[in-house]
Amino acid sequence: MLFPSKLELKNIPYLYLMKVCFARLLFALLPLWGAHALKAQFLQPDSDGRLKQWVEYLASDALEGRLTGSQGEKLAFDFLSDKFKQWSLTPASEGKFTQAFEFTWEIQASPSALMEWEAKGKRIALNAYPISGCGTAVVAGKKTLNLGFGIEDTANGHSDYQSISDLEGKVVFIQAGIPKGTNPHADFSRWTLLERARLAAQRGAGAVVFYGGTPDDAPSKTIDPHVHAMPIPVWYCTENLPKSKEPALVWINSSLNRIKKTGHNVVADLTRNKSLPTLIVGAHYDHLGWGERGSLYRGEKAIHNGADDNASGTALMLELARFLAQTKDQRFLRFNYRFIGFSGEELGLLGSKAFVEGPAFQREGLLTMFNMDMVGRLDPQEKTLQVHGAGTSPRWAALLDSLKPSELNIKTSESGIGPSDHSSFYLQDLPVLHFFSGTHDDYHKPSDDPHTLNYRGMTDIGNYMLQIIAHLPDALPFSKTKAPEQGKSKFKVTLGVVPDYAWEKKGMRISGVTEGKPAALAGLQKNDVLLQLGEHPIDDIYGYMAALGKFKKGDQTTVRILREEKPLTFKITFE
Ligand SMILES: [Zn+2]
Repeated sequence: MLFPSKLELKNIPYLYLMKVCFARLLFALLPLWGAHALKAQFLQPDSDGRLKQWVEYLASDALEGRLTGSQGEKLAFDFLSDKFKQWSLTPASEGKFTQAFEFTWEIQASPSALMEWEAKGKRIALNAYPISGCGTAVVAGKKTLNLGFGIEDTANGHSDYQSISDLEGKVVFIQAGIPKGTNPHADFSRWTLLERARLAAQRGAGAVVFYGGTPDDAPSKTIDPHVHAMPIPVWYCTENLPKSKEPALVWINSSLNRIKKTGHNVVADLTRNKSLPTLIVGAHYDHLGWGERGSLYRGEKAIHNGADDNASGTALMLELARFLAQTKDQRFLRFNYRFIGFSGEELGLLGSKAFVEGPAFQREGLLTMFNMDMVGRLDPQEKTLQVHGAGTSPRWAALLDSLKPSELNIKTSESGIGPSDHSSFYLQDLPVLHFFSGTHDDYHKPSDDPHTLNYRGMTDIGNYMLQIIAHLPDALPFSKTKAPEQGKSKFKVTLGVVPDYAWEKKGMRISGVTEGKPAALAGLQKNDVLLQLGEHPIDDIYGYMAALGKFKKGDQTTVRILREEKPLTFKITFE
């Protein structure tokens, strides 16, 4: 499951509980009929042992957390490929089960990157490093200017620009941390270093150098490839700066290297007859490695085994592949199946996105996509299985409801968009379902280990999925869904767009719009690149969030975009 996730366990509404209890009562009164109608089992109890064995391998230390592009990823995709081969499935492309995709892992300062300062007629190298937003620019012998905290926030009674007349081309020094001693209720939390650097760049600074603050204020040495670079150097200096009344001179060479990596999806086909509709069954098999990105753990570096997230879904996908490859039951022979182990999910759905944009994907002939992400922690008492995407076809609601098994308490939600790979398929207008047994304290921590999983629960979930497949019609109409219910957001407004996390150019590309929300109402479409909201430029996803924070409900403004390279402007009303 992708972090930051919007998943939240919601209290089950009272009425829903009543309904469940009533259904249980009916069930108790009609034991024979009920048990017979709902107890057809496809996976047998021996599935539990296979699931356990596969999870124990995938989530073992040998695979080091299956980070996309790592040796652990390779061990995992070899394992999946071997299993698919063993059941005589066909590789989707030219004899190979893997589909490679390239992505920028990070940006690093190159060995020649350097910042120097002239003191007493001598040039001295400073302990400093480029940070997110830094451009590959050179500054030679420019004057410096102290810009305080670099904040201009009149609502909170603070402006560092008031007495500044000329920033043009200067190396601007900005103190990290936030101003104290003014209004105790002033909230400067939106003034991230990136925000301050962008403001200084807009006002003409030739370079921005942050310094000081508490150790927590020191920015990461890792440059985030998703932050759009400014045309100037942006650095952090760890030294105390010499106190000098005379403006000193600074030299900066921000030479940077882009580190590319390659991730691999695993794609296997079970094709019976080319004229049959195809069902995609997918699960991401990558996880967080040693917690380099997206970890919620704050201790020493450790392997994040990702047993529930998502060795569980991967193992269940394998078990479904095994069953479907071997079954003689006519109800399953009505379809072709494509099994996909996605990589790059934890880095922003990179694998599923590469898949739907790649040559192997054709919308035609596809029936639906089932995604299993975190299916290993079914609570033995509550037995709640969440099924998301129930609004993506008008046929789902009745089907999901009629097949409710006694082993599971099914809780559905409408939206086709969620923090996992089914979103990529929903955005291609395909009905989707995401199966999810709920979040827990071990989520994205090294303690997400195999012994915490409920393997019988996984078999029950697999059987429920097979029940759905057995009862699938040959065609499923697609329907768009409303936005997912969200917990508290720090924004007062929403546009209703899904950001494309793989986009690395200027602006923020959207992978989809939510029906009935401001962006859709204004006429924005999938693949539009947002460049400006009102007067606020959007260089990347962070610029987008900063711009969004400046509006409130009911505000009207314009949004400037690129659609297939063509600039367009739309009027938009926030809700
Ligand atoms: Zn995850």
